[in-house]
Amino acid sequence: MNMKKLLTAIVLAASLATSSVVWSTQVQASTINDTAKQDSYSGVTYLYKMLQQEGIAYNCFYTNNKFGYRNGKPEGIVIHETATPNATAHDEAIYFNREWMNIDAYVHAFVDKNGVIQMMTPNYGTWGAGPVANSRFIQVELCEENNLADFAKGVNNDAVYVAQLLHRYDLVPTNAVHDGQGTIWSHHAVSKFLGGTNHTDPDGYFAKWGYSMDDFCDLVKYYYDQQPANTPVAPAATTPTQPTLPDPVATKVLMHDALIYDEDGKVTDAALEQAGAKLTLYGDKMIAGRKYLRIGVNQYVVASNVEGSLRYLTHNAYLYDNNGKRIGTSKFYRGKYLRTYGGRVKINGYKYYQIDVNQFVKVGNF
Ligand SMILES: [Zn+2]
Repeated sequence: MNMKKLLTAIVLAASLATSSVVWSTQVQASTINDTAKQDSYSGVTYLYKMLQQEGIAYNCFYTNNKFGYRNGKPEGIVIHETATPNATAHDEAIYFNREWMNIDAYVHAFVDKNGVIQMMTPNYGTWGAGPVANSRFIQVELCEENNLADFAKGVNNDAVYVAQLLHRYDLVPTNAVHDGQGTIWSHHAVSKFLGGTNHTDPDGYFAKWGYSMDDFCDLVKYYYDQQPANTPVAPAATTPTQPTLPDPVATKVLMHDALIYDEDGKVTDAALEQAGAKLTLYGDKMIAGRKYLRIGVNQYVVASNVEGSLRYLTHNAYLYDNNGKRIGTSKFYRGKYLRTYGGRVKINGYKYYQIDVNQFVKVGNF
């Protein structure tokens, strides 16, 4: 049932029997949580990985805007709603990755019926709900759905993810929307109790479905109680007994954005290391025939991202930046070797090798 039909149905019900409006709203709220609990969690997709698969550059928010929370870790989570009908979490993620520097807004995650897209690590703050809340809370946006079943799926993904975040930072679920005290906030509650912003989401969107922040908090608590105590995902807060690293052997500049692997050569969920980052190296290791450099406890990057490999130019080659724009008019002449870093990357549909920070040459030239 779409929104218009639902509203029409409620109005119709009201004109038939005045008491039925309140009754049906209450029934619907409990039904939504019951329905949500039947849905399975769709899990988290990490933005930088998603973009890598789609050949889109990741505009890492915290490269230039890294700020911590006032107490060193998040104090809770602000629940938002995008107010953009028909935009999926994927749509929002692509848009915010491209535009955050122009619209001065960024959040930690977008959630819809298909799952969660985490934009960046929640260990640092974002620009979601004004300066007071940004320095205290993780910011999570729920996307709009067009029917009750999908709304329940979206809310379910949101609640499971929020419950996991609470565990991750040793927080307990408490509803902050009535008195400004607690860990689960709405953007509306931030406007009311903390200021610095005047939005009232997600209340209006929730109300359309006969749902409320109280209902949402109940659902978060339900999942929080089911989940194991502390999933150690936040290294600083939860791994005091880390094995010690050997002495560093070198400091080198990373030439190509690099995934972080564990000692078995499996990709980890740690944030991507960005080209240009200075890495402290603790030796190297061959894993399944591929050379890796150790950058931390159980953290490795593929060596060619740092050391590069020589490739022979068979054509004259122009230089491009990470948006696929040609840099100047000078070119490299065929018959010469160029050092390339990391694997092929796709920019606007073309394949490139990286030869320096923000410098690329088309694969076809080699
Ligand atoms: Zn908001």
